[in-house]
Amino acid sequence: MPGQQSVQTICPFCGVGCGMNLLVDHQESVVGVSPQSDHPISKGKLCAKGWSTPFAIEPGDRLKHPLIRTPNGFRAASWEEALEVICFGLEDIITRLGPDAVGVISSARASNEDNYAAQKFARAVLGTNNVDHCARICHSPTVAGLKQTLGSGAMTNSAADIDQADVIVVWGSDATENHAILGGHIIEAKLRGATLIVVDPRRTRLAKLADLHLQVRSGSNILLANALLHEIYRHGWQDQAFLDARCEGAEALAEAVADCSPSRLSEAIGVPASQIQTLARIYGQAGNAMIFYGMGITQFVSGTFNVMALANLALSCGQMGRPGTGVNPLRGQNNVQGACDMGCLPNVYPGYQDVADPAARQRISDYWQCLVPNRTGLTSMGMTRAALRGVFKGMILFGEDPVVTDPDQNEVLASLKALDLLVVAELTMTETASHAHVVLPAASFAEKNGTFTNCERRVQLVHQAIPPVGESRGDWQWLGAIARRLGSKALDWTDSQAVFDEMAAITPNYSGMTYPKLARHHGLQWPCNETAPDGTALLHQTSFPIGRARLIPVHHVDIDEPADGDYPLQLTTNRLHFHYGCGSMSRKSPLLERETPDGILFINPLDAQSLGLRDHSAVGVRSRRGYLETRAILTDDLPPGLVSMPYHFHEAPSNQLTNRAMDPISKMPELKVCAVRVCPLPEG
Ligand code: SF4
Repeated sequence: MPGQQSVQTICPFCGVGCGMNLLVDHQESVVGVSPQSDHPISKGKLCAKGWSTPFAIEPGDRLKHPLIRTPNGFRAASWEEALEVICFGLEDIITRLGPDAVGVISSARASNEDNYAAQKFARAVLGTNNVDHCARICHSPTVAGLKQTLGSGAMTNSAADIDQADVIVVWGSDATENHAILGGHIIEAKLRGATLIVVDPRRTRLAKLADLHLQVRSGSNILLANALLHEIYRHGWQDQAFLDARCEGAEALAEAVADCSPSRLSEAIGVPASQIQTLARIYGQAGNAMIFYGMGITQFVSGTFNVMALANLALSCGQMGRPGTGVNPLRGQNNVQGACDMGCLPNVYPGYQDVADPAARQRISDYWQCLVPNRTGLTSMGMTRAALRGVFKGMILFGEDPVVTDPDQNEVLASLKALDLLVVAELTMTETASHAHVVLPAASFAEKNGTFTNCERRVQLVHQAIPPVGESRGDWQWLGAIARRLGSKALDWTDSQAVFDEMAAITPNYSGMTYPKLARHHGLQWPCNETAPDGTALLHQTSFPIGRARLIPVHHVDIDEPADGDYPLQLTTNRLHFHYGCGSMSRKSPLLERETPDGILFINPLDAQSLGLRDHSAVGVRSRRGYLETRAILTDDLPPGLVSMPYHFHEAPSNQLTNRAMDPISKMPELKVCAVRVCPLPEG
């Protein structure tokens, strides 16, 4: 069409990172989307969310000007005025309480450049390591667990490897709902003859297609992994040559699982011993076997140990370092891998360089020409807890909606109200933004250049397609404007390429990447450096970053809040194919919005019957932390005793109910299970 052009970019929704083209009308407006036929992962496909991208960019209620809170609500303001309020607030808090009384929450939806700027702003401008993002509540145990065992907290293999796997184990992940294109590759692999095994308390779509579904009890992951290891070592299915050559700790692990027989543990795991024995035999004798996992592994108080248990399994069987093998976390948001890589975590600088390591601190300080803080900062929930104690007073947050996504909503709201300064940059007014003192209009991914890093460590270019809507600005630009007003030139870049080049210079895994190289290759997978100038599709082929991989025995940890007489049902959380995160992007699409009612409680028909519920009955759901009302959907995809809610809907926020109890290592809250009571409501 005359006046229309196609701009190559990357889907802004999930961590699969599908290639798409935005169709732009007269350089002003995104009017359509099409898949890139030659993209190495999506291969000419997009899921329903990807096809709905234009609605997320221009939903009709985009924020176009800064807003400042007044006693009578928000009023429009100029950027100058908003920046002045922000800088006055920051300086006041830092003067009174020091730099650790402020912090930054960056965004797994934003680009690497924006995230790099956010952590540099926290460290070099504010002087604190208080920087975090939503990986805290999705894959922080992956970073902690795989780093300890393998030396690198990321997917070991690539999506393309699915074609080479004989056995695929999907553990605690609903890939067809949450990572639809990758889920489709798994289904294709199953259709061409691969054995598919699903471990999940819910009968997911993949579970219905699987050769074997272990419908385990919530929170029994370590018991199952140890029972599998018991069988594997008992039968001699371990890969002794691999263990001898490349790992340490195999003997201690074999000893630790000696009493973990399937027959002893099957009741606690919730599946027959024969199923455990079958999975052990299939995995233990597989040629190439891939493990994929999601938040059914990570969102527990035992999250880090759960991840280590899966690594123990793969290492014991030598399923590592070859195509079609490995331990593969399915990262949730489009750039959650990148936000972690950029150092938007309170304990590491860019490239996972430990803030407690004096050499790393010196390196970063020299490069940035300022002394960066070396005390581990607060996590996102550490910041909200500190706000309740009155010692944390200022938060700058972008592209996240913790009121909807974080556990125990009432406590999150109380902590936000305790702040002297809350700045939120967003595309549209969110629940969290509605509590801010200053709201800034952020530019969407279609309005800026940058990079996203997908779940298989592929760094891909995002190209500007349209000018920023209204007065919106990219995140590194408005962060730079605040820095300049505070007297710092630390964020004075000319363009996003300059941000990337600076980041690559101090982030070892990215050191071989440049924008022109990324443009030539559909992106590059890290590590990309002098020894791997074309990137690395497959990690750990001949060695691990820590030399030998570590097999570390882990033991069962009870869930924090089991069902009891007062709260007799267990609640788990799930995501729906047609929605994404807090819903602030996917719910702008009328096509996606019509597919599911807002807020749902999935419940087994037997539980429903005992409560007198029918399909779509109105129900109240109460936990020790909150109460909400919604509608019941009856399904035997859940076993009796377990109910489930998606968390996308602010009208029925499942996080009113969820538990803040945390994994002591990664500080991951136990979002996957808490105790609730369900009661029927009179029909209105
Ligand atoms: Fe976008 Fe993920 Fe769907 Fe691909 S699978 S189109 S990246 S939402």
